[in-house]
Amino acid sequence: MLENVNEKCAVVGIFNHKDASKLAYFGLHALQHRGQEAAGISSGDGKKLHTIKDRGLVSQVFNNDILENTLVGDMAIGHTRYSTAGDDSILDAQPVHANYDLGQLSIVHNGNLINANEVRNELIQKGAIFQSSMDTENLIHLIAKSNQRKLKDRIIDAVHKIKGAYSLVFLSRSKMFAMRDPNGFRPLSLGRVGEGYVVASETCAFDLIGAEYMREVEPGEMLIFEKDKAPQSIKVFEAEPKHCIFEYVYFARPDSNVFGQNVYKNRKQMGIELAKEHPVEADMIVPVPDGGIPSAIGYSQESGIPFEMGIMRNHYIGRTFIEPTQEMRDLKVKMKLSPITSLIKGKKIIVIDDSIVRGTTSRRIIRMLKEAGAEEVHMRISSPPTTDPCFYGVDTPDKDKLIAANMSNQEICEYIEADSLAYLSTDALMRSVDGEASSYCTACFTGDYIL
Ligand code: SF4
Repeated sequence: MLENVNEKCAVVGIFNHKDASKLAYFGLHALQHRGQEAAGISSGDGKKLHTIKDRGLVSQVFNNDILENTLVGDMAIGHTRYSTAGDDSILDAQPVHANYDLGQLSIVHNGNLINANEVRNELIQKGAIFQSSMDTENLIHLIAKSNQRKLKDRIIDAVHKIKGAYSLVFLSRSKMFAMRDPNGFRPLSLGRVGEGYVVASETCAFDLIGAEYMREVEPGEMLIFEKDKAPQSIKVFEAEPKHCIFEYVYFARPDSNVFGQNVYKNRKQMGIELAKEHPVEADMIVPVPDGGIPSAIGYSQESGIPFEMGIMRNHYIGRTFIEPTQEMRDLKVKMKLSPITSLIKGKKIIVIDDSIVRGTTSRRIIRMLKEAGAEEVHMRISSPPTTDPCFYGVDTPDKDKLIAANMSNQEICEYIEADSLAYLSTDALMRSVDGEASSYCTACFTGDYIL
């Protein structure tokens, strides 16, 4: 279970469907795991764009009246957002919407621009006024200032001035545009829904709305959706794929396909590889729910050791505002996770989790299992040690807070109070997924940053 590591957001776009905003709503609902702080939808009816966004879960921000009477039209784009504490201003919710000389424009963005400050300062010096702290607002300014006549060319102009990770969807009064950065850090898939089209961060959004998966939006590709035409594809940049491997380790939902591969299959394979690399004698395999489940199944099948749901997760705690004392923090983990004592007592257990970030949650889980009577607890992690922060759209703690950047394996093992600890190697992680190792970003495990 990852502590303080969050995907920053999810995007969805629906084009040419009479229930566009409702489909965007359901799509966002399926993508809620990628961001729970704010949600927004812009819809277009050919004359005007309509935008509703607010703090809260998708189901809290929208209701039937809004979807039926405000977010009208046959095209819509949507966004769910994660934000760090104290940075949850409504101004930072998306879609980002603006009126400019060509009309109206809304943008949703998943990713992070690494030259955002540079671009912003330059724009401010030239007189631009920013309303939010979002790097996405840079794009609105760059598009508004471009000398090109057509929106398509202005978007191409703008993306040549930015660097970083971006899966973007734009909505104008009559068209929708989808665009991915040349490295394709963050996922974006294309599907068909009825007579229309859908783009979304993960295909679990397609399944919910009955859409059919067509393909990935390619890295460096722009798709233009226009009435009565097939989507037009423009290669804006040569593709140099560097897909985020962490999508497979933790972020994406197991029932999704991202980067063209099924997440569950890859996550289970990580467990199989982990069992091959780091076997240990035990009575049962116990996953940390929910993230550790597919890998624990893989570990169990490979090792022949029984899989047991020895830890139950309470899905209904929501956000808890409790005092940050040690005692209260321990209580918070117990509210989320509880052991099945009768199963665990006197047993040697292998606990499978997807990653360790600060180590505090792992320590609480192991303590909880030992208090429940576990004789031995061996921790196995289905990814390599997380040693470096992400600059490409995933909110990670600074390096000094990442336990694996500051302690040896043995020290971490002692800190989390495990009987043994082992991580999946980077090579085994790459064996667990399809495609060339060079087509993935692994910077948070290796420190090999691409940009
Ligand atoms: S640094 Fe890690 S989390 Fe960020 S894009 Fe690369 S693999 Fe993904």
